[in-house]
Amino acid sequence: MENCLFCKIINGEIPSRTIYEDEMVKVFMDINPSTNGHLLVVPKKHIVNILDMDKETYIYMFNLIKEKLYPLLKEKLNCEGLTIAQNNELGQEVKHFHIHLIPRYQNDCGDFKYDKSLLIDLDEVEKKLAN
Ligand code: AMP
Ligand code: ZN
Repeated sequence: MENCLFCKIINGEIPSRTIYEDEMVKVFMDINPSTNGHLLVVPKKHIVNILDMDKETYIYMFNLIKEKLYPLLKEKLNCEGLTIAQNNELGQEVKHFHIHLIPRYQNDCGDFKYDKSLLIDLDEVEKKLAN
């Protein structure tokens, strides 16, 4: 897709620190990492967000994370955990689907902060969501 930052990274127009690549995905280092080894798993197809994601690509990426990328991060960086995050629409800076792999280390203080004053009653939320 023209003018898409991650499409340009995938086709090599813009450089990236690529850690893994195959016919389906490119995995490269986030330029502004939350922790050491913060990676982005990006499908080569231009998929905007989870709403237009296909099952095959999704399963492929999660299997790659489980079988290869998390073990790699554990072995090479000695991380003790992994936070997997993926933004859609609001909060999504780059409109080409990507999964954040954020390796976790003791005392990395990496917890997300939400404004808890916006929370409504749990009963009310349950009523809205339950069928
Ligand atoms: P999101 O807010 O989920 O869309 O995340 C976009 C991520 O892309 C951010 O964490 C950025 O640091 C990262 N990013 C932006 N430009 C680049 C780039 N040229 N190379 C690698 N990562 C990038
Ligand atoms: Zn794209």
